[in-house]
Amino acid sequence: EALEKGLEKTKDSFFSKISKAVIGKSTVDDEVLDDLEEILVTSDVGVTTTLKIIERIENRVAKNKYLNTSELNQILREEIQALLEENNSADFEQFNYSGKKPYVIMVVGVNGVGKTTTIGKLAYQLREAGNKVVLGAADTFRAAAVDQIKLWGERVDVRVVSQGMNADPASVAFDTLQSAVANDEDIAIIDTAGRLHNKVGLMNELTKIKNVMQKVVPGAPHEILLVLDASTGQNAIEQCKQFTQATDVNALALTKLDGTAKGGVVIGISDQFKIPVKYIGVGEKMTDLQLFNKKDFVDSLFK
Ligand code: GDP
Repeated sequence: EALEKGLEKTKDSFFSKISKAVIGKSTVDDEVLDDLEEILVTSDVGVTTTLKIIERIENRVAKNKYLNTSELNQILREEIQALLEENNSADFEQFNYSGKKPYVIMVVGVNGVGKTTTIGKLAYQLREAGNKVVLGAADTFRAAAVDQIKLWGERVDVRVVSQGMNADPASVAFDTLQSAVANDEDIAIIDTAGRLHNKVGLMNELTKIKNVMQKVVPGAPHEILLVLDASTGQNAIEQCKQFTQATDVNALALTKLDGTAKGGVVIGISDQFKIPVKYIGVGEKMTDLQLFNKKDFVDSLFK
């Protein structure tokens, strides 16, 4: 299925490295653990999360001195699964918007990470599920961003509110929500500018958009979705730090998993930030966005 295919590169690189590390070894010894640590770090799991995983495996080795290397994959799988479960965030259910109308999703992230594509895919899914969806083109900093979102609107047959390039993003967001209310629409997805110029600037801009939204829909935005490009590995972790400091991100979308061997970043981000990974992007087509499920993810990785 799509998830397995999407994780192919990560899987191949990960497991071929592990197989190499255990060649000629029958038990999991310090050397194997050192190699495993390096493999996890180079698969972009991140140092902090890697050390947690290694410690868990060390504990198991301490209990069973002659742990066979043939069991290593299974043990690793169990410990990664357990670590993801400990991240107090539950997996999302599809379209459970519990009566908030319009349900407002504000989408943030730097340019090029796949923000527009993710919005398009999401609009498609939500509309297919029977919701009335509207998009707000509040990334008014780049002409291309407004055009792209309009194109996606046409492609997936969803209404787009736009005031063109250089318009005030807050004003576009306001318009979008006002017309969503007037049109009795279920879900409004607001694109925002992907500039990470400086922390205060970003914070002010996002706060302004949020405040304006609340004038129309109290409690909005219900979801602040941060889009990150998984193929950038540690950069994605850095962007996650910056955006979570600037605003209350409460859901993550990790894109481009299909093109990268850095899928381990999903494990690292999920562990470090305690913000649920809600979606993963596994291709460029409008159907290539999946709800993230921890168990499915680990199963696919180890299949
Ligand atoms: P934005 O600048 O953040 O809005 O980025 P775009 O949405 O324009 O995406 C940048 C490029 O990444 C485009 O060529 C997309 O087709 C591509 N892209 C986005 N998501 C994915 C994904 O999950 N997988 C792959 N392979 N490509 C993606």
